[in-house]
Amino acid sequence: MTSLNDLPLRDNLRGLTPYGAPQLHVPVALNVNENTHGIPEDVAVDIAAALAAAIRGINRYPDREFTELREAMARYLGHGLTRQNIWAANGSNEVLQQVLQAFGGPGRTLLGFAPTYSMYPLLASGTGTRWIAGDRDADFELTPRRAVEWVNRVNPDLVFLCSPNNPTGTPLSLDVIAAVYDACDGIVVVDEAYAEFAPVGTASALTLLPGRERLLVSRTMSKAFAFAGARVGYLAADPAVTDALRLVRLPYHLSALTQAAAVAAFAHTPEMLRMVDDIRGQRDRLVTELRRLGYQPLRSGSNFVLFGGVSDPRGTFEALLAEGILVRDVGIPGHLRVTAGTERETTVFLDALEALGHA
Ligand SMILES: *Cc1c(COP(=O)(O)O)cnc(C)c1O
Repeated sequence: MTSLNDLPLRDNLRGLTPYGAPQLHVPVALNVNENTHGIPEDVAVDIAAALAAAIRGINRYPDREFTELREAMARYLGHGLTRQNIWAANGSNEVLQQVLQAFGGPGRTLLGFAPTYSMYPLLASGTGTRWIAGDRDADFELTPRRAVEWVNRVNPDLVFLCSPNNPTGTPLSLDVIAAVYDACDGIVVVDEAYAEFAPVGTASALTLLPGRERLLVSRTMSKAFAFAGARVGYLAADPAVTDALRLVRLPYHLSALTQAAAVAAFAHTPEMLRMVDDIRGQRDRLVTELRRLGYQPLRSGSNFVLFGGVSDPRGTFEALLAEGILVRDVGIPGHLRVTAGTERETTVFLDALEALGHA
């Protein structure tokens, strides 16, 4: 048995810890922003049939271009996109990694606005890209002015904008995205992992794509589509960008089973998204009730809520865990993050928090 420190590890990986949200088996898991509602039974039956058909051809490599899936994704996103605009991989984390492999790397910098998605710095170090953490305005909002100041200071090769932002839930206005794009000549990625949970009528960054060939909008099936276990993420961008990603993807990176399952799921889009309204309702309920309990929930356009006013986040986390409720301590002093659950799960969480007494 040797230890990590004894191995000839790359210098920039020394001392790092891997991504590791606890995977505990608890009755009420509200810690990683999964869709807490399962997929409808009739859709599950259809996906199983598609997988059964795909198995019959599993001796052959899958369609390297995942053409049918890209067409389904383009149809779903709308905005005049075609399959030439679409790229996909095993989760949007892999999509983002490929973006860094193609456009980042040694000598290049990635700018983000902390606190933001914890995977961005890890993906940066994995690809030898320098991560620079900008900051945010009050209540973790981001104004065009602050964002552009950072862009001018850093002159980044890439900017990752998380919209709405994880772990804060705060929405991002299109003004910020347009201003950041205009201020730099690098790649601007808008991570819209939670876009489907935004208030009805909220414009997506997809509306900004025409004429902006360095703008990439990433999405995932993990959250709104309740497909976290299947690992399917994707992005929309200029066809030249998807060509760049072909240079770094592993051959046949999306398995025939993944492609079949995802195509079958997109064929049932309305049912797959049926729970989104309900989850939005639970999210709004969390904001209202947390405020009533004396906490300070932040504005959220996602399926989770970050709330401040927690005097002892670690203690509250542990006390909830003792009740079988898992939330997330994201390391922001005085704050905890909770995913909107089913109505029952949300009730269990709120009741347990109330029983703990105020912050
Ligand atoms: C959950 C999440 C993702 C999705 O990751 P997958 O690899 O698609 O499961 C991407 N970005 C953010 C900000 C997330 O919170």
